Amino acid sequence: MKRLCLPFAIYIPTDYPLGLGELWWLVLEGAVRKADALDVTIAGQQSRFVTRTPAQKIFAFNKIYWQLRKLPEAELRAQVRRIAAAAGYDASTLCSDEIMTWEELRALAADPLVTLGAHTRRHLALAKLPAEEARAEAAESVAILEAELGRPCRHFSYPYGDVRSAGPREFDLVRELGLKTAVTTEKGLIRAEHAASLTALPRISLNGDFQTLPCLKALLSGVPFALWNTMAVLRRPRAASACRSAIRSGSAPISPSICRAPKAQPRRC
Ligand SMILES: [Zn+2]
Repeated sequence: MKRLCLPFAIYIPTDYPLGLGELWWLVLEGAVRKADALDVTIAGQQSRFVTRTPAQKIFAFNKIYWQLRKLPEAELRAQVRRIAAAAGYDASTLCSDEIMTWEELRALAADPLVTLGAHTRRHLALAKLPAEEARAEAAESVAILEAELGRPCRHFSYPYGDVRSAGPREFDLVRELGLKTAVTTEKGLIRAEHAASLTALPRISLNGDFQTLPCLKALLSGVPFALWNTMAVLRRPRAASACRSAIRSGSAPISPSICRAPKAQPRRC
């Protein structure tokens, strides 16, 4: 990035540089890696996964991960702790081993190409939380980031960032906190219309699903999103109709909760 002079932003869940973050998706990965078999009960449904081969481990991880993502945050994390304990996987130093400290982040932030934004404190899906808790997660992370870096924080990223994790309530509360932009993980290019909804920006994800250069070029052309949006029109005529009317009249900002393209591939945190 530095060689190409490309500015970039990193979003920080502010408990993490202190070693206090619960990286549950990595804990699950570690447990699956260590175990030869896992018995899990999620939402009353009991399943047994044999996890001896790499293919079995990948299958089990994906199944368990996406089932967990539907749960309330506290239940999700309690489940992962149980799975890790059953597998004999010790995650006690995982966060401090994997995550940069505030000292390291301050050194990074000194580079003019780098913007550090807030990403809540504990990396919880805000839309699953009561309004006050969601507001506190966002507001406290901004305040902590500003105190640690000694500069204003103007940018935010929603944990997970999909429609189940961030919606109109979160877009409003982040705007009310005075943040200038906030990004979701809804896939898409930023267009002129997004000037009216800067706390609900789409992104293109490169974290595993589309890592080849041809894929990236295709995504940056915007063509896949045009196709996905067309499919959305066919699949969800009422939502698409509302979306088109809002855009045509200019009466409403573009919101991923209404106008999102369908997910091409599942995305992990
Ligand atoms: Zn995240």
